[in-house]
Amino acid sequence: MSKHIFVTGGVVSSLGKGLTSASIGMLLEQRGLRVRMQKLDPYINVDPGTMSPYQHGEVYVLDDGSETDLDLGHYERFTNSPLNRHSNYTAGQIYKSVIEKERRGEFLGQTVQVIPHVTNEIKAALVKPAGADVDVVITEIGGTVGDIESQPFLEAIRQFSLDVGKENCLYIHLTLVPYLKAAAELKTKPTQHSVGQLRQIGIQPDILVCRTERSLSHDNRAKIALFCNVPVEAVIEEKDKDFSVYEVPMSLVEHGADELIVRKLALKAGPLNLDRWRDLLQRLRNPEHDVRIAVVGKYAEHRDAYKSIYEALDHAGVHHRARVHIDRIHSETVGEEGAERLLAGVDGILVPGGFGERGIEGKVDTVHFARSKGVPFFGICLGMQCAVAEFARNVVGLERANSSEFDTDTPHPVICLLDEQKKITDKGGTMRLGAQPAKLTPGSKAAACYGTEEVSERHRHRYEFNNDYRRRFADRGMEFTGTSPDGLLVEVVEISDHPWFVGVQYHPEFKSQPTRAHPLFAGFVGAALRHRLARENATA
Ligand code: GLN
Repeated sequence: MSKHIFVTGGVVSSLGKGLTSASIGMLLEQRGLRVRMQKLDPYINVDPGTMSPYQHGEVYVLDDGSETDLDLGHYERFTNSPLNRHSNYTAGQIYKSVIEKERRGEFLGQTVQVIPHVTNEIKAALVKPAGADVDVVITEIGGTVGDIESQPFLEAIRQFSLDVGKENCLYIHLTLVPYLKAAAELKTKPTQHSVGQLRQIGIQPDILVCRTERSLSHDNRAKIALFCNVPVEAVIEEKDKDFSVYEVPMSLVEHGADELIVRKLALKAGPLNLDRWRDLLQRLRNPEHDVRIAVVGKYAEHRDAYKSIYEALDHAGVHHRARVHIDRIHSETVGEEGAERLLAGVDGILVPGGFGERGIEGKVDTVHFARSKGVPFFGICLGMQCAVAEFARNVVGLERANSSEFDTDTPHPVICLLDEQKKITDKGGTMRLGAQPAKLTPGSKAAACYGTEEVSERHRHRYEFNNDYRRRFADRGMEFTGTSPDGLLVEVVEISDHPWFVGVQYHPEFKSQPTRAHPLFAGFVGAALRHRLARENATA
């Protein structure tokens, strides 16, 4: 039978519950345990797919096509827990399912209520990732304790320990211990209040993970322990890490978190093996090169909108022992100030995915700069589509060529709606989503990076390359080096007489891990390093 760990958060949002949960998952895996990760989000949207990145950051896509919270990205980067649609439930999904059951008459005669109907539905979700081959399910509860909307979720996890036995559940509460300059001390009261709220609804946390700017003294910990009704050893410090998120697991280990969890849940765990992780941190701390990559998108100012892209670039840096400096450039400012001014001096240019017309022309100008100046270029999803539009206009000579997403009257819709999309009107969960196989052309840059000609990558789009134009593009030097296995959908484009120009219709960033960089990101950053070196040699 699987054991369950619940991770809640208190005091403020953005404490890093996702990272802490992922770190715990990683540590338990490195002790030989089989772990599954899950997140419950208290908002009413059925999934985050219809939310703006300003509201929610990036939408993370799983192999099975689920559009999920970005914390699932942390789970996949830190652990090997296989994720699927049961790995992320929202209040919207829970309520939808309860209401559908009510309509089918499954509750005939009853008044349908939050307790027990909604809480039962949540409890059913909690056991979906569990099974005979799973030692521990780690479930992170989104939101902050005290939020109205998270109450049914907290009530459900409270009931759950009565159902499966207290000894099979562990409650970890992540909290903030702020440092007050005026008083020159760390303050434990917010933590006391937050744990007080949890206890009021019947949850006594077993472990407190305390986010803090400064190290907790023994007195601090003793005070928190006394007021929050936990042993001192269960007050774990998690000091801010401004260097790298990949340090979080180390800080948990340093304060005994993995051992405590293993003991409290009576797990049959082996010794902790952190060799790979130590090597990762060693590489991050001691880079041998520097490289500058511009990421040109319309959410440049929003740190979470391209989360997996930034992470994947870092992983590629680790692979090459290079520190990747990222210039986050707003595509609209490229339109206003000119690509030359903003991009001169960068070693590589990446245009990420996106939706909607704003900033498109700036992205096309960005591609033009990269292509004509021989700067390594990586276009992802919308970024690839912009590369196609640029090539159409400036090389093939197709005036006003565009994606029909942005110009319905274009004489040359070089990117057009996928056939399967033409009849779809609903916006939620209706794109071409999830893992799809692709075959690559032997000898292409893409095939060289992957080291194989058959790949599987995740998609999230409605538009695609318009096959009516394939011939004309190929004649002018754009190669279609990756397609769906039947050859019908273009998945990868390249320009062979350019140092590194690759566009992909899919999202490789979702499959990059810190200790195993994605082959295309590694290829791109490698090309950027060579570009930098060549320029340095030329000016020397
Ligand atoms: N908006 C484009 C499409 O739907 C690109 C999507 C993306 O970049 N994820 O095809």
